[in-house]
Amino acid sequence: MFPCSILIRTAGAARNPSFSVPRSSGLSPWRKTIWQKALACINEVKWIPSWGRYRIYGMVENRPDWCISRQRLWGVPITVFYCAKCKNEVLTQEILDHLVELVEKGGADVWFEKEPKDLMPKHTTCPHCKNTEFTKEVNILDVWFDSGVSHAAVLEKRKDLSSPCDMYLEGSDQHRGWFHSSLLESVGTRGRAPYKKCSHARFCCGRRRQENVQICRQRHRRGRSDCQIRR
Ligand SMILES: [Zn+2]
Repeated sequence: MFPCSILIRTAGAARNPSFSVPRSSGLSPWRKTIWQKALACINEVKWIPSWGRYRIYGMVENRPDWCISRQRLWGVPITVFYCAKCKNEVLTQEILDHLVELVEKGGADVWFEKEPKDLMPKHTTCPHCKNTEFTKEVNILDVWFDSGVSHAAVLEKRKDLSSPCDMYLEGSDQHRGWFHSSLLESVGTRGRAPYKKCSHARFCCGRRRQENVQICRQRHRRGRSDCQIRR
């Protein structure tokens, strides 16, 4: 028997970025590759209930390119260096391996705390002009990209789980969110959907939510409600 894996993202782990992406003209690399493959993969997934398939298909079909960078001061950094002289990107496997070690020891904030020379292996030179001074990328990753790589960061790292996941389970708003970003990220890097089944559920109740529902009902009775109770 194969181990069963179900990935459930807790609500609130990701924030919807208020960032508008301009629609690209023509057939971009995104349209030629990830987009077409993602649409094909949607048809290979079992959607529960079945109309979830139409919901996410329409969203992927009509979405613009995915700009994964955000101009914010906090978040997961985009770990790219630039030559201070010729301005080319400088990123090699050796640099990445060195950076991974630093992050494993000190967390992702080392990117913001240290200077480029302290984040790169000693004696690193620009492969284009042999310069030894660098700057670092200051943009961060879109938070949907963060949650979208959970299939790689969780399923592929834990021995008791398997990838692709047997089922992703979250709220019905995630056809635009986690289901969506996970699909695009996995298609782009693995060439397949990260899940075999995808089920959207009603939102979970907790004690705090029940308290809020009671408050809403009281406001309804008093005719002062400006909120909706979702059942
Ligand atoms: Zn250079």
